[in-house]
Amino acid sequence: MWSKEIFTLIADHANHKATFSTYSVSKSVKLHALEAGFSIEEVKGFGTKKGMLKGNIKKENIYLKTKKIYPFPYISKENISEITIIGTGLAGLNVAYRLASHGIPSVLIDENSGPGENTSGNPLGYFGPKLSKFPSPASRLSLLGTYHTESMLMEWSNIFKCATGRNTGFYLVMSLDEQDKFVNSIVTHELSSDFFVKKNASLEWKNEKIQLSGIHVLKGGIFFPNKFSNLMVDYLKTQGCRFIWNTKISKIDKPSDWMLYDDLHKPIHKTKILILANSFSINQLAQTKFLPFQKVRGQIAIFNHFENIFFDNIPFILDDTYLLNEFNSLVLGATFNPKDNDTNVNESHNLLLMERLNKNLPKLDFNEIAQPQGRVGFRAHSQDRLPILGPIPVKEAYQSSYRHFQKGYALDKYPEGEVYEGLYAISGLGSKGITYASILADTLISILLQKPSPMPLDLLESLHPARFLMRDIQKRKLSQ
Ligand SMILES: Cc1cc2nc3c(=O)[nH]c(=O)nc-3n(C[C@H](O)[C@H](O)[C@H](O)COP(=O)(O)OP(=O)(O)OC[C@H]3O[C@@H](n4cnc5c(N)ncnc54)[C@H](O)[C@@H]3O)c2cc1C
Repeated sequence: MWSKEIFTLIADHANHKATFSTYSVSKSVKLHALEAGFSIEEVKGFGTKKGMLKGNIKKENIYLKTKKIYPFPYISKENISEITIIGTGLAGLNVAYRLASHGIPSVLIDENSGPGENTSGNPLGYFGPKLSKFPSPASRLSLLGTYHTESMLMEWSNIFKCATGRNTGFYLVMSLDEQDKFVNSIVTHELSSDFFVKKNASLEWKNEKIQLSGIHVLKGGIFFPNKFSNLMVDYLKTQGCRFIWNTKISKIDKPSDWMLYDDLHKPIHKTKILILANSFSINQLAQTKFLPFQKVRGQIAIFNHFENIFFDNIPFILDDTYLLNEFNSLVLGATFNPKDNDTNVNESHNLLLMERLNKNLPKLDFNEIAQPQGRVGFRAHSQDRLPILGPIPVKEAYQSSYRHFQKGYALDKYPEGEVYEGLYAISGLGSKGITYASILADTLISILLQKPSPMPLDLLESLHPARFLMRDIQKRKLSQ
């Protein structure tokens, strides 16, 4: 019974405190226990048993200072003449921009015929922090992303000679109770008091003033994703970037460099470094199939030629519904439907958005005004609602290297997590792509090129694609 296989299985499931004992003391039992990594001792047995074997697993409870579980290999700029990016949404374009600022041109491939045809093509959106009770990775990221996007707006307006957004902050309509909770979050996040002002805001509706109570968050603001995408494509072309449109990548493999195939299995492009910025489609490739992503439909209602409302031109948020007023349009957003693949605008979803506002602000009766148009997009939400950023781990190698890993315990030595050479991802931006895209892109490229990361390393670990594998390994879901 006490074969080497059985001992290895026990060792795999044992933590560093595990012990065993058996009255079997034959030579082969001792040998198999030793081979599986146990240290053994033969002692006197009890009663009729002459001897017994006691053993414990040779694992030490040592936490390594640097976690090799989450490697982030850099690239050598000297060997790189260009980098390939799949996807020209906010994620892909921000990555290409950051690479161009380091003098590296990109080849960008997209299944659409131009920028902004997909989720990143909304006319208006907002960016800003979403604070939780205590600083969570998501709220820290949303804060960093907000500051980063604000500074990028300045940089881009200098390059494009026009604005792609405005850092007006945004107004949160809140009860007094909710305002107190918000102020508590400000304290737990150690933010200064110039971060917000409590004030009553007014908006004009049919020549009537409606008073609202809430908080003006002074960071964040309004963004024009579609305008940004088109301007960025034009700018990137001037920086030596190339665009391959109408090409869906359905397979990649790596004989030596990465080879990209279209949906007719035709090889179309070869590259040393490949960055996947293709949103929810990312896990359609064999190498990234393990990534737990959900495709979530969203719709915004757009009222054009809409001049008779005034919000001090700041985004206005009420119970997760936002109102944005710019370019003589009013945008109401956004719905959230995980199991809906309908690409057409659904009128009932527009009505739902209007009702959400009317319920809280009956004076704003949208039903009396013209029918809105709408726009549909699909977000990529990861299982833990955080984006993914970093190199793609080799699933089988991880499962094998970390099979002894258990939550709360460390191995005597962490093996170096194995990742595919030259394959990186930026995806899962969910409902906060405007806030996240520029900081994620900057972080990815800074680390790749061995520059200081704008994001603290502990936060970066929360975004590493290998986190999903490690969670499965901890839960012993090894064989998927
Ligand atoms: C209705 C709605 C409202 C929103 N409002 C806001 C907001 O106010 N604020 C905010 O911060 N965020 C908002 N978001 C979220 C934000 O728009 C997204 O997070 C962001 O646009 C995602 O950018 P991306 O580049 O990751 O994905 P995408 O914009 O979807 O880009 C992915 C690109 O990859 C291409 N692609 C995919 N697969 C392949 C393939 N196999 N081969 C080639 N190309 C491929 C696609 O064609 C696409 O162009 C909203 C989203 C929706 C749906």
